[in-house]
Amino acid sequence: WVVAGLYLLLALLLTARALTETFGVQRSTDALAITPFQSLLFAVGALAPLLATFGFFLMVSERLRGELTRHATLDALTGAFNRRTLAELAGQAIAQSRRHGGGLALLLLDVDRFKRVNDSLGHAAGDEALQALVEVLREAKRAEDLLGRMGGEEFIVLLPGADLAHAIAAAERLREAVEHSRLVLHGKVWPMTVSIGAAALEPGDDFSSMLRRADAAMYAAKHAGRNQVMAAPAANPGPGVVQ
Ligand code: GH3
Ligand code: MG
Ligand code: MG
Repeated sequence: WVVAGLYLLLALLLTARALTETFGVQRSTDALAITPFQSLLFAVGALAPLLATFGFFLMVSERLRGELTRHATLDALTGAFNRRTLAELAGQAIAQSRRHGGGLALLLLDVDRFKRVNDSLGHAAGDEALQALVEVLREAKRAEDLLGRMGGEEFIVLLPGADLAHAIAAAERLREAVEHSRLVLHGKVWPMTVSIGAAALEPGDDFSSMLRRADAAMYAAKHAGRNQVMAAPAANPGPGVVQ
């Protein structure tokens, strides 16, 4: 804005000068004649490089800051939140849920047999598949749900306000969306599915304890044959996993 304002002011002054010189309202015989208008023009002209430098510096540092924030908070490959940001957002969501009531649930998604994509089509196709998966998940989740990449082919969706039943329904929707997405790699449709573990917030929970339960449920979904959703039972009744 500083730079734009400066150049706009200069453009206006130079236009005014051109008009007065052309149509003779106040024609100056000497280009350096000291009139109030000339003084203003020269003053702005002298300050312009200084202001422009300052403006460009502001612009560059703002863009740099934006880029650094993006790098620090988002996963570079998929643009989903990274693990660190997820932990931070989950902490905030847990605190919020405690203070104001309302549920919170977490889904852990792991792509089924993802290694096969890399092995048969190469790492670049695997990367493409992960990017496509994030697009599918973005489309299928609610606007307020937070999507992040834990690492590798594991993703997390935080569901503010959701209890376990809602979380299972949401997970089922995501699972179906992935199963029915037509992922095209190397010109052929690649069948992609995910196994999902769901866990709802319980008293005494933090992000890692929720994650542990979701992880156990996700592994149960894998063992049960993949491409399905399992829910972690409440931590208190004891170990075990229910569908
Ligand atoms: P499962 O159904 O048991 O989850 O099988 P899987 O093959 O998905 O599981 P596994 O953990 O054996 O393999 C995960 C693979 O994901 C291995 C690794 O090479 C690949 N992977 C992890 N991160 C990336 C990535 O950023 N890009 C690509 N292309 N591959 C990745
Ligand atoms: Mg995995
Ligand atoms: Mg996997």
